[in-house]
Amino acid sequence: MRFLLISPPVSNIGQAAPSISVLTSWLRGRGHECVQWELGLEIFHFFHSREYMLLLSEMMRQNAGNPETGETETVALARRLADEIEIAKHALRRSGIESELEDMSETLDAIRDCGLLISAAHGLGRLTYSRYDINGAWASWESLAESLRDPRRNILLDIMDSHVVPVIEDHMPDIVGISISYHSQLLPGFTLAILVKRALPNVKVLLGGSYLKAVQDDLKAMPTGVVPADGICIGDGETALDAYIGFLDRNGSRSDVPDMLFPEGDGFIFGAESPQFDLDAAPVPMMTADGLNLESYLVPKYAVPLPIARGCHWRRCVFCNISNQAREHYRVRSAELAVRDARECVRQFGTNWFDFPTDSWLPRDMESFARGILESGMEIEWAAEVLLRPELDAGLLRLLAESGCRCLRFGLESACTETLAAMNKQVDVELSARILAQCHEFGIKTGVMVIIGFPTETQRHLWQTVNFLEARAGDIDFLSLHQFTLAPGSRLAAEPSAAGIHLLPRRAVLTPSLPYAHSNPVATRPDDLPKIIEDITVALAEAHPQLGRLWASGVGGWMTFAAGCSNPPEFFKRRLTK
Ligand code: SF4
Repeated sequence: MRFLLISPPVSNIGQAAPSISVLTSWLRGRGHECVQWELGLEIFHFFHSREYMLLLSEMMRQNAGNPETGETETVALARRLADEIEIAKHALRRSGIESELEDMSETLDAIRDCGLLISAAHGLGRLTYSRYDINGAWASWESLAESLRDPRRNILLDIMDSHVVPVIEDHMPDIVGISISYHSQLLPGFTLAILVKRALPNVKVLLGGSYLKAVQDDLKAMPTGVVPADGICIGDGETALDAYIGFLDRNGSRSDVPDMLFPEGDGFIFGAESPQFDLDAAPVPMMTADGLNLESYLVPKYAVPLPIARGCHWRRCVFCNISNQAREHYRVRSAELAVRDARECVRQFGTNWFDFPTDSWLPRDMESFARGILESGMEIEWAAEVLLRPELDAGLLRLLAESGCRCLRFGLESACTETLAAMNKQVDVELSARILAQCHEFGIKTGVMVIIGFPTETQRHLWQTVNFLEARAGDIDFLSLHQFTLAPGSRLAAEPSAAGIHLLPRRAVLTPSLPYAHSNPVATRPDDLPKIIEDITVALAEAHPQLGRLWASGVGGWMTFAAGCSNPPEFFKRRLTK
């Protein structure tokens, strides 16, 4: 079989989607032809370019009425950005930029302004480096289906039809897989599926990716007329694709294909459940760089997103729809194979930086990996997302640092015991303070994520958290504040009364949050949250100067790992120079 796996816009401009790199390696190991295509990055460069800014300036000048004198503020801005954008993109790839934080912020502002300008020029659609939207698209299934097919509103239709589809035709794939990891990829991914099916009706189009797993209940209600997918994978891609190939080859039954939604009648129906994929069954290396243009990512040095653990071992935070799905259990690649993966990735990707995309990596498994790295003599630097657990003591943190751990990201969520209990988040405030301080003792930078506005959170609870963040600022390198949203598929969405809230009628489809209201008079109200976050950002500006900066936001903090690596601790430098 010939596969083409695509990560559509709007994706991470600092790192390739691990999903397509892992599945490409898996499918090739099973004897299939497979090509991975980071389309998201190519589309980003197409729009965020000197050429496109000049095109926009001309378009806006014409629209201004008088082509001779139609100079407006936006035309002037487009001209300025045409001069700046390539310089800005180049600057973000320059070694050393990670420690020049003001320069980094300025260059990112140019990228943000390009997106704002593109959105303003097109009016009905919005495209930035982190978002793609069409006005009114999510109001209903009908409006979603219409918006996707309307070239006036969907500004990706034209570029995809004229530039992307011909490339796909040249590849002559049997199956096109479209991986959707973020909400921002939904509209572009659906657009691509529509165009591929229109041009190549015999090619099978499968959708998959972690975001679709999270919104699988919504997808089961989606009419087939919205997007002509042949299947939507809501589990591990490896087992689902294996079974799907068997289903095509043998003209088998759909009930033999696990974790796949199939179109039937006017909706999608679930095939079958399967045991979870054993990560040790993946080939070495688990992922491949072949097909990626590593030079075009906007980072000074590429960090490999090797997914050596999947799922979350806790799975009980009531607000989360990432890893608390009933079927998704925590799994980890054995240390021996993970170390072999790392060695192969260093060879293939040409970098010794790793940013492991883990939901929560168990300390026991981190320890095995760290020992394996030290025994192998490899010199890597790495970051990961972990829970604030008691096992992260001085001995383990020192070991992790010696193995090259340079940055750990923690979902603290709150520093108020009552709020943490209501969230069912297994975090102890005192213990968290101890771990954050000890990370610094061993030269490990820390990233902390906090949720603002959990429904039971009162002003007093909130200021407890703010005070903690201020008092511990010296132990927190990167802080991000997230507005609470009621995520579809979360435990709280199923039982909102547990936090004293009730669902409001949903007037949109496939949205990343559900409308709710609560009657607690001292709790923060959903409508006030953006302003509250703005105020907290101002209040914490001195203690956390990076808070709210573009380079420190986004998936994994985009440039925070690079910034974390810019000044290795002395003992690690000695090990590197031995
Ligand atoms: S928020 Fe993190 S720790 Fe909690 S269930 Fe989700 S992935 Fe697990």
